[in-house]
Amino acid sequence: MARDEEKEKLKKTILLLQDEIERLSSPPYITGTILDFADKNARISVDGVGVFEVPFGDKLKEEYKTGARVIINPMTKSVVGQSEFDIASGRVVTVEEVDGKNLRVQNRGESCFVLSNLEGVKVGDEVMLDPSGAIALKHWGKKKTPYVLEKIPEAPWSNIGGLEGIIGIVKEEIEDPIKHKEVFERYGRNPVKGVLLYGPPGCGKTMIAKSIAYNLSQLTSCPGKKDGHFIKVNGPEILDKWLGNSEGKIRRIFTAARDTASENGAPVVVFIDEADSILKTRGTGVSTDIYDSIVPQFLAELDGINGNGNVITVLASNREDIIDPAILRDGRVDRRIFVPRPSEEGAAEIFMIYLKNKPLDCRSFGKKDIKGIAEESSAQIYDGRNVAYRVVSPKGTLGFFLYSNLASGAMIKGIVDRASMYAIKREIAGNGRGISKDDIKRAIEEEFSDHDGFAQAIVPTDWEDVFGHNGRQYNRACQQGYLTLENIFSRIEDSTKLKEVKE
Ligand code: ADP
Repeated sequence: MARDEEKEKLKKTILLLQDEIERLSSPPYITGTILDFADKNARISVDGVGVFEVPFGDKLKEEYKTGARVIINPMTKSVVGQSEFDIASGRVVTVEEVDGKNLRVQNRGESCFVLSNLEGVKVGDEVMLDPSGAIALKHWGKKKTPYVLEKIPEAPWSNIGGLEGIIGIVKEEIEDPIKHKEVFERYGRNPVKGVLLYGPPGCGKTMIAKSIAYNLSQLTSCPGKKDGHFIKVNGPEILDKWLGNSEGKIRRIFTAARDTASENGAPVVVFIDEADSILKTRGTGVSTDIYDSIVPQFLAELDGINGNGNVITVLASNREDIIDPAILRDGRVDRRIFVPRPSEEGAAEIFMIYLKNKPLDCRSFGKKDIKGIAEESSAQIYDGRNVAYRVVSPKGTLGFFLYSNLASGAMIKGIVDRASMYAIKREIAGNGRGISKDDIKRAIEEEFSDHDGFAQAIVPTDWEDVFGHNGRQYNRACQQGYLTLENIFSRIEDSTKLKEVKE
């Protein structure tokens, strides 16, 4: 009896050992994803190896679906079961196009097609691919736009000074077609899809774009329900070294704008600052290959806007002359609006905006009211003796850029901020209250002498203002180093010095 028991025990041990030997000598299984089925085969993407076709009977087909994660015997290349593990790694990509069971995605800077049997995938969504990148396995929903989709803060036209005429044009071009839609329709005029604001920096282009968005949302919104939105992108942010990525970014910006506009029923303004950096004229030498694909993508997006005034593209540029003309053609961004530097009166209006509600030392201004103070402050900048740069050629002086040739709304705000700081310090020290005439004078002097960047802020239209029809030519000569800008940044009292100009 004892011998039988011992025999039985030995038998069991041998069987166990046999199992163990088999387990140890068999290769590890590999995993893969079922891509699709043919009549007798299945196409399987094996992780890290490639795509195989393996025999797949009808019974197996009932058990497995496209996208299933399966275990494969590497010797026989047959499916031996369902993987119990979740997918270990897979690239997350953004969907650019949905075409039935194919998705076009951006993968490592390239556009490519992948399979998918996921439900409800839309353009702009993110999906996770299997490790081979052949099929989309998980749906992550909408990729958050990396661009700021701001709710529009209050930005009434009255925040902008000295641009009444320009604002009038913007209202006519953008607000009226929405306000009086039926009338415009009867005359066959559609709302504009976009405007180009061009002109020197710091003069209110961004402010205008924000006010467009704010005022449009006021026109169309039900109180408390809909908000206008504003997407601001700087052109250079869109440029990407990976081929195809810049186009992808443009696509995502406009998809976000269109989706937000249709979800909210309120307008979205897409504002692209420094637009010339991405929309340069193709094939002219000022562009490289990258623009040859960005510009068509941009055109496709503009053409895809349905023209009901819900997505408005506002481009801003200091170099409108190099923007591809196809963008500015009829039915696209076909309104060009020049936003100039402020005139003396305009500068006074801007001073008023920033000085109002601030303590002022009216006595120092000879008891003037705020309007008088603003006018006097502006007159200090526009004093024809305040010289910023002398333009010098090898033959001598060609002319001067005055402070007034460089004035901008941003600069006036800077001057008021500085003057406020002087007044604050004086009041803390117990030496009086309010911004004085001297504070403004000192702030103007310091605002100019502190800024090295003015030369870069001079745009071709400024050269034309100073040198008339020679302006553009002088501008180019300066860029090429034939002319120089010599810093002056002070008052030249002797008016004969301002006249010593060589032809
Ligand atoms: P741009 O887009 O033309 O470079 P911005 O609109 O960004 O200039 O102006 C920069 C800042 O300068 C604004 O935020 C605002 O404070 C001030 N500013 C510029 N222009 C005006 C203006 N016309 N009226 C009032 N403030 C202005």
